[in-house]
Amino acid sequence: MTTRKPTKEIRIGKIKIGNNNPIAIQSMTNTLTSDADTTIKQIHSLEEMGCEIIRVSVPDIESANALKQIKENISIPLAADIHFDHRLAVESAKYADKLRINPGNIGDKERIKQVVDAAKQYSIPIRIGINLGSLEKELEKKYGLTPLAMVESAVRNVKLLEELDFTDIVVSLKASDVIKTIEAYKLFSDRSSYPLHLGITESGTLFSGAINSSIGIGFLLLQGIGDTIRISLSAEPEEEVKVTKKILEALKLRKFGVSVIACPTCARANFDVASVAKELEEKTEKIKTPLTIAIMGCSVNGPGEAKEADLGIVGGKNSCLFYKNGKIVDKIKEKEIIDKIINEIR
Ligand code: SF4
Repeated sequence: MTTRKPTKEIRIGKIKIGNNNPIAIQSMTNTLTSDADTTIKQIHSLEEMGCEIIRVSVPDIESANALKQIKENISIPLAADIHFDHRLAVESAKYADKLRINPGNIGDKERIKQVVDAAKQYSIPIRIGINLGSLEKELEKKYGLTPLAMVESAVRNVKLLEELDFTDIVVSLKASDVIKTIEAYKLFSDRSSYPLHLGITESGTLFSGAINSSIGIGFLLLQGIGDTIRISLSAEPEEEVKVTKKILEALKLRKFGVSVIACPTCARANFDVASVAKELEEKTEKIKTPLTIAIMGCSVNGPGEAKEADLGIVGGKNSCLFYKNGKIVDKIKEKEIIDKIINEIR
């Protein structure tokens, strides 16, 4: 069991992060934030998938103005992501539950102070989002594009906010390079107890991004580092939520809904395990009750896995054995598997 590193507790809207609170799942919309109706629709879909904090980009004043309507129509905390223009952060603070800024591109101390004053006024935290691709120029010159440069940037910006008497801080140190990201988070975690938002930025398509993120974020989580997660994928954000849940479940840090165990199949498989497992995953992805279902092709490893699961299928020559709570309770045909399991879950 992983021992999590204790961090400062921070409230983001209705949820708390840090200090051993559950690691929260975050995602980001890919709609135009200024199109509030479309953005709300996507957030509802993400909420249904299990997203717990949603971040939206605020690139212009129309987007900042749309936050009010968005906030009023969703039930998960809303984080506003602002680059370059501190006035957008000040405006967003009226409605958002968290601000995410990259101090490296927000500008001088006076501008940061205005953002901090707005966060104080509305009692919301600020995430200092360090990205390897947008470090302060002098740090890049001094350290190169290295984890050390990212950490120095984070430390410097945390200090800046602390000097402004602001400590509701979350930090992220993202790079697309998995090794550099791991190193940066580890180094910063040794120096700070602010909660950390984990992510591998620009990690890639669903396939490569899921692998990169699982390695990077999984490694950090196993070290006890991390309080919120966003898997950045060049894919629909619902996929980000699915991958995040899988990572947290694999590390036994959280448990969500239905988990399908399926054998890889081989010449012994007595039915199309892959198709059944895929269809089952799709049909059960919104079920919130934690359940394990084993779909196994034959009696070599099948009975062991099926007994351990809440529900299990083990392929036989002419029919499949159906297990419930570790016991064989029925014999069914391959075409009956999905309906049988869905009915049992209900
Ligand atoms: Fe092959 Fe049976 Fe193992 Fe599945 S359970 S991989 S079908 S031996």
